[in-house]
Amino acid sequence: VTGVQTCALPILKPVFQEKIWGGSRLRSVFGFDIPNDKIGEDWAISAHPHGVSVVENGEFKGKRLDELWSEHKELFGHPSEPVFPLLIKILDAEDDLSVQVHPDDAYGMKHEGELGKTECWYIIDAEPGAEIIYGHHAKTREELAEMIKDGRWDDLLKKVPVKKGDFFYVPSGTIHAIGKGIMILETQQSSDTTYRVYDYDRKDAQGQTRELHIQQSIDVTTVPAKTPELQIKEVRKGNSSIVTYLETEFFNVYEWDIKGITSFKKQAPYTLMTVIEGAGDLVVDGKTYPLEKGTSCIIPNGVSEWAVQGELAIIATEPGK
Ligand code: ZN
Repeated sequence: VTGVQTCALPILKPVFQEKIWGGSRLRSVFGFDIPNDKIGEDWAISAHPHGVSVVENGEFKGKRLDELWSEHKELFGHPSEPVFPLLIKILDAEDDLSVQVHPDDAYGMKHEGELGKTECWYIIDAEPGAEIIYGHHAKTREELAEMIKDGRWDDLLKKVPVKKGDFFYVPSGTIHAIGKGIMILETQQSSDTTYRVYDYDRKDAQGQTRELHIQQSIDVTTVPAKTPELQIKEVRKGNSSIVTYLETEFFNVYEWDIKGITSFKKQAPYTLMTVIEGAGDLVVDGKTYPLEKGTSCIIPNGVSEWAVQGELAIIATEPGK
């Protein structure tokens, strides 16, 4: 391949998803032009068929991320995986999300024909008193099944208070729910398989409840629950700080908190980034790409170093090893 794309830095258009628990903060906080006030998710970087990102600049303008992945493998370091493995979302939970659990890859491929879903959350904002559900108290699978059948949600579900800047790792098999008043940036495997355990008996505008998946939930939940131990590391670079939240087989997740100008060297075949606060520029080979809150882009394999300047916070994700 000639002219390895040092200048092709794809910036991606957001894909908005309406949800019964969604709100309007993707407009009021991020400035996105959302179509109504029930938008729960911005699929910021996605090649999943339920909402594919499209490139909005440069030589790949108009291309979908799934096309880039299959037609321009050089951008991603010639990966062997058939599908782009990651999905980056920004969520606005105006109301509680359903209590849910996701399968691992083996169960997901066998029963749903797609990857399982391990995810993680950076809390962008949280109202005072906001909580998530993160794990459960059942000691055996039988006890889990019984507590679900009897609707003993207060006994079963583990609640955790959250605040801006918290980070949670949610491996497949973890019962979880994002509570109302929370905005998160989610890094996850590219999957849309959710097994709903409990939906608060809510009805939508048509009076319908959403489907529950009780048997699958009991099958895939890790029992007893395991709480992952995070080894969060922070490195200062001048006035900036680089936080490592997670390095796993699925993805590595970092926060780049930039004040001034900070240079980076490539440490993975490609890097995904989403600006969650502030504004500035990404500088590659003397070319400047403006970054504002909500900008998402991919630093491709041909780029070995870059700089970020301004006053901004970015969540960056690399594929895992
Ligand atoms: Zn989930």
